[in-house]
Amino acid sequence: MINMADIKAFLKNNKLMRSLKFRLFVIMFLMGMVPSVFMRAGILENYESRAVEVRTSDVQTQLRIIANHLITYNYLQDTSSEVIGAELEQLSNLYNGRVLIINGNLKIVKDTYGISEGKTIISEEVIRCMKGTNTVNYDEVNGFIELTIPIVETVSAQTATAELPVGTELVRGVMLTSVSTDTIINTIDILSRKAVIMEIIMVVCIFALALILVQILIHPFERITRAISEVKAGYTNEPISVPDYLETEHIVDAFNSLLERMKSLDDSRKEFVANVSHELKTPITSVKVLADSLLAQPDVPAELYHEFMKDIAEEVEREDKIINDLLALVKMEKSAATLNVGVVNINELLEIILKRLRPIARKKNIEMTLISKREVVAEVDEVKMSLILTNLVENAIKYNREQGGVEVTLDADHQFFTVQVADTGIGIPEEAIHHIYERFYRADKSHSKEIGGTGLGLAITRSAILLHRGSIKVESKVGEGSVFTVKIPLTRVLV
Ligand code: ADP
Repeated sequence: MINMADIKAFLKNNKLMRSLKFRLFVIMFLMGMVPSVFMRAGILENYESRAVEVRTSDVQTQLRIIANHLITYNYLQDTSSEVIGAELEQLSNLYNGRVLIINGNLKIVKDTYGISEGKTIISEEVIRCMKGTNTVNYDEVNGFIELTIPIVETVSAQTATAELPVGTELVRGVMLTSVSTDTIINTIDILSRKAVIMEIIMVVCIFALALILVQILIHPFERITRAISEVKAGYTNEPISVPDYLETEHIVDAFNSLLERMKSLDDSRKEFVANVSHELKTPITSVKVLADSLLAQPDVPAELYHEFMKDIAEEVEREDKIINDLLALVKMEKSAATLNVGVVNINELLEIILKRLRPIARKKNIEMTLISKREVVAEVDEVKMSLILTNLVENAIKYNREQGGVEVTLDADHQFFTVQVADTGIGIPEEAIHHIYERFYRADKSHSKEIGGTGLGLAITRSAILLHRGSIKVESKVGEGSVFTVKIPLTRVLV
């Protein structure tokens, strides 16, 4: 037994069955062939029944005429009439049939084959016909039509009696006729043979037409595959275009936007690698230059030696800072799922951070104030949150002027808490504002280096904020200062 699951599995696993080309071909072929097969069968069947009908009614008409003559010539009593004999002969020759004339006693008075005369016939059809009913039987298997027709005498004025008034119809006998349908069968044979030949021609034509149509219909999909392969093989990097169908256009659009995204990812990866290499190389180059110049002099005074070594140590420290920041960034981008969430008092956290950074601020005589508008307790990763706030406050100090100010404001609504870090520092130029979160970006290169920035701080900060499903925005005016605002959900938002 074949069940639906087997058919489905077969369609799924068989490569040919899975091909759209093949399926379309089969559908077109069947759509071309099935109607023609049904039409042929229908027309031939129709022809046969129509031809049998016509033949039957022709013979019946003839028989009725002869039946009248039989009464006129009193043939049932006397079969010597040559006229009737000739008529019967003609009928049986014309339709290749046999006519039996049976009288009221069911005796065969005439058989055109001449073999059954004088015999008695008892058959259902004859007896039914004696009662006045015509019968017609078509024997399809043996190829003949058998029909009976009553021989009716109408009572005339001369023969009328009280029981039999004028016009009464009396069945005097029956004509039982079988006519061959050989000619009809022959015609059907000829027609079927012609139809088969036509069908074979149609099969070939529909096959060829379906093949061509399928090829044309599938062509755009093949063009897409080819275009994508070219992109894959690296011959081209340009967006592809196959505008034939709306559907192919959609596929192509989706592919092009994927390509665009991959390109931008690739570009940013290349840029990142280039930046990392450059950033890591700079301190190493300085160390090498310093060491080489020490080595080049035979008798280096101790103070110079000491000074150079101090520079070398500073460069190494810088290299260490860059590597640590890079590692922190990579870790942040990798550990989206490993947010170590706990309940943290943000007011306390900010106090600790400000306390820790106060010595650096004091060096520049910067005054730091914390405005806690309300008590805030949030579900956050304490280490990451501390990193975010430290980076922002540190930047507010680093990029500030002497005797400037840093104001940290903490507020919350029922959903989010916000930390605003405002400084009175150098500000960020408008064209730089969109880039400050990029890795290794520094708005004011010389100043930033001198301060010891790596350009990674805000990139790390932003990643950590996004991990908390929060947001960061900045407003800044050159020479006046900047305000960074961080907004974080109070409770952990599950992804
Ligand atoms: P860096 O380690 O160089 O400070 P960041 O990623 O923290 O790197 O900052 C990127 C750049 O944004 C900095 O180089 C600086 O030019 C600018 N910037 C950041 N914070 C401030 C601020 N509070 N005031 C002015 N400029 C800032």
